[in-house]
Amino acid sequence: MATAQQILQSYFGYDSFRPGQAELVHAVLAGRDTLGIMPTGAGKSLCYQVPALLFDGLTIVISPLISLMKDQVGALHEAGVPAACLHSAMPPAEMYAVLREAEHGGCKLLYVAPERLTAPAFLDFARRVPIAMVTVDEAHCISQWGQDFRPSYLKIADFLAALPVRPRLSAFTATATEAVRADIVQALALRDPFVLTTGFDRPNLYFSVERPSSKAQALLRLLAARAGQSGIIYCSTRRTVEEVCDMLLAKGITATRYHAGLSPEERRRNQEDFLYDRTPVMVATNAFGMGIDKSNVSFVIHYNMPKNMESYYQEAGRAGRDGAAADCILLYSGQDVHTAEFLIERSHEAGEENTDPALQQALLDRDRERLRRMTHYATTTECLRHTILRYFGEDSPLSCGHCGNCDTVFEEIDATVDAQKVLSCVYRLSKRGLHFGRVIVAAVLTGSKSEKITQFRLDTLSTYGIMAEMTLARVRLLIDALLERGLLQSDPDRYHALFLTAAGNALMRGHGELRLRLPREKKAASRTAHGLADTVDEVLFDRLRTLRARLASRAGVPPYVVFSNATLADMAARQPKNRMELLAVRGVGEAKAHRYGEDFLEEIAAYQRENAPFSGKSTK
Ligand code: ADP
Ligand code: MG
Repeated sequence: MATAQQILQSYFGYDSFRPGQAELVHAVLAGRDTLGIMPTGAGKSLCYQVPALLFDGLTIVISPLISLMKDQVGALHEAGVPAACLHSAMPPAEMYAVLREAEHGGCKLLYVAPERLTAPAFLDFARRVPIAMVTVDEAHCISQWGQDFRPSYLKIADFLAALPVRPRLSAFTATATEAVRADIVQALALRDPFVLTTGFDRPNLYFSVERPSSKAQALLRLLAARAGQSGIIYCSTRRTVEEVCDMLLAKGITATRYHAGLSPEERRRNQEDFLYDRTPVMVATNAFGMGIDKSNVSFVIHYNMPKNMESYYQEAGRAGRDGAAADCILLYSGQDVHTAEFLIERSHEAGEENTDPALQQALLDRDRERLRRMTHYATTTECLRHTILRYFGEDSPLSCGHCGNCDTVFEEIDATVDAQKVLSCVYRLSKRGLHFGRVIVAAVLTGSKSEKITQFRLDTLSTYGIMAEMTLARVRLLIDALLERGLLQSDPDRYHALFLTAAGNALMRGHGELRLRLPREKKAASRTAHGLADTVDEVLFDRLRTLRARLASRAGVPPYVVFSNATLADMAARQPKNRMELLAVRGVGEAKAHRYGEDFLEEIAAYQRENAPFSGKSTK
């Protein structure tokens, strides 16, 4: 009999399990109920797919979304695994054909939508065939505490109770707080489960935060450096999605959009264009993502700061699922905090009628606290990875050496005089009965000639232009720092106009000093345009990508189902010459080597011929 290791190698093409996978696979094989909590992209699917291939009977996988199921089944077929799915969008005849096939052993994994479970025809089937395991994917959907509660998940318990023999159970999720985890164990009635939580660190992700004075310009610059790569741009509102997408299209960048205001038909089409790499860039609200398993997303840019770290890490985590290097960039501005506050308040007003006021207030406070922590991430000068992991309760080194902050040289400066300039500007304005937000205050200080300035005759203030040697961005950074230190306050009911606090007043009048840690300069990025390690031949990598696109469209599957970016990168680095060498590439299993091997080997050989060093012999 094959071992788990052999299955991993021969079907999936990987030499080793990732952290947590081996433990979970062994617990499942030992017959225990298991619960695996691993971050997005950690590789939860293999934890039940590998055992399923070792069991005699059938494994039923419950999954919340049709798109997720189809994706998984497509990927399994590519790996040579007999698998199928059942969902409500299928015609009955097709459903019966799938059940018949499964009954005769022609299927190792059957993916089922939760609402199918209690349909009489399915129950009949499930009572007849030997079921080795029932797996619940995205198991947090069963918890009423979670954000993604799905009532149909509650049917799982009824289904299990109706089976003649209780199969072993396994459940997987990326998001489980203590309460959600307890809910899962209880609602599925897991028996003495083996529970494993792996770390939340994603070493291949590079986190950075930028505070550009123009987000649009910053975005265009970031995209120019990533031409041809696939990525997601998250915005906090539908309107911003529309604006950003239109701007990109106007600049000739192939992009598409996704938000809840579009028709289901357009959402489906845009999503597919993105999945199939027809449109590399997706601009979307947070409505986009649940159930997107696209593994070759090379960057996730947040055009606005999300409401909390949970959302941020989940959305950013959609980058680099295949393990290849990927970037997670947050474009932050102070305005994002106000937008997030507004969204939080609006969502609470909407829920007000049916909850008791004390609970309502507690939830509002919780969300505000979460926003505060998110804002801390966006403005901290500490290691970003450390900040994230600490938020999720995990220990990690104080500096990761691989994030925007670790790559930025910060210096502690005496900012007393600069702060006094800013504070006196706010003070002078208030003497004239004027109160403005940070944008205008920074414009006055740097001596801008904008319309607002002349309209309010702000150029006649004594503080006009006293910081002309600084960039606008730097002055805004300074204002943010003064807000954070409580030297200034902004009034949310007056368009976030700035006011001096008592502490600010004191500093302005020469009492005390202010030291700040501010960025000095950015180190040059050390990665290539594709984000590849320098052992990878980029030209070959591009050729392999083109070949992959061709093969994928012939097979009618998304490109990343053929091979992931990480696999192509490894292939371009190793440049295999034969089948054996090809099988050594990370992510190449036997089925795929058989199906695509020749094409890729030929492409590599052709590339090597064309680029062979000049050998002295004439080739004419
Ligand atoms: P999750 O469900 O945890 O979000 P997936 O199961 O979809 O993650 O796996 C994410 C990616 O990781 C997939 O592209 C998968 O092929 C890859 N992967 C999983 N296990 C391994 C492994 N042991 N070695 C290398 N890549 C792996
Ligand atoms: Mg998954």
